[in-house]
Amino acid sequence: MYPKPIQDFIDNFAKLPGIGPRQAARLAFWLLNDKKNTRENLKRALEGLDKEVKTCKFCHFAIENLPAGRQAPESKCPFCDNPARDRKTICVVEKETDLATIEKSGVYKGLYHVLGGLFSALDIAIPKNLKIPELVERISGRTGKEKIEEVILAISPTHEGDLTARYLERLLKPLKIKTTRIGRGLPYGSEVEFADAKTLSGALESRKEIK
Ligand SMILES: [Zn+2]
Repeated sequence: MYPKPIQDFIDNFAKLPGIGPRQAARLAFWLLNDKKNTRENLKRALEGLDKEVKTCKFCHFAIENLPAGRQAPESKCPFCDNPARDRKTICVVEKETDLATIEKSGVYKGLYHVLGGLFSALDIAIPKNLKIPELVERISGRTGKEKIEEVILAISPTHEGDLTARYLERLLKPLKIKTTRIGRGLPYGSEVEFADAKTLSGALESRKEIK
């Protein structure tokens, strides 16, 4: 029903999380009728995502791909690069926006590790895109100079979160490192990303050791 370029836009935008075909169509026509260079700015922003972002090789959070000389040594993110942070604790999160929520709450001062996803109930094998081998390497001291004493699993209390947390618990057990999971306050089915600072600080304080 729409001309092909508009339909193409809709089909692509409707694949984004939280956006369905109707919202994508509204966006398409809003952008089409917009006079304020939003389309140009969006083009630049998309290109920036493509070319100007890379991941921290330690925690896998996103960092700006700066020219040599302006980049932190070893391409570290500001968290991994900050000597003032507690370098004995790693907080494992599903995704970058979870890290941002925890960081904004101000209750956590340790290091992070971004898994890049969760197990799904349909997975037979461990999804290859998850940064699980990298987590084990960090904890066992093969990457970086950290001496990790506690791993906090700040993974949402959902079915997928539980599957992933259980797998990580079993995996980390032989490494004999205190492993905890954030606890009370986060209702079942809720997501870390949308928790407020008070709930998160309660959940972090009430974290339980997994034995
Ligand atoms: Zn990092």
